[in-house]
Amino acid sequence: MYSRTQNDNGSYNTRCLDCFMTIASSVETEEELFERETKHVCPEKALSELLAMEKAIDADPDSGNPRHLN
Ligand SMILES: [Zn+2]
Repeated sequence: MYSRTQNDNGSYNTRCLDCFMTIASSVETEEELFERETKHVCPEKALSELLAMEKAIDADPDSGNPRHLN
């Protein structure tokens, strides 16, 4: 989720609503906004995905099996 705002001079800003980081400011086109948003690697999302993954592992009935270590 991103929050886009427009400046008085017509340029755009976009901010990530997950980590509240400003991803782009004073960008000229919506295409560039989209590009910046696509490239944003959200630390908050990465964290929540990691937590979700750990929960999924905990809920896995096979999780009692020994893990394979290389
Ligand atoms: Zn983010």
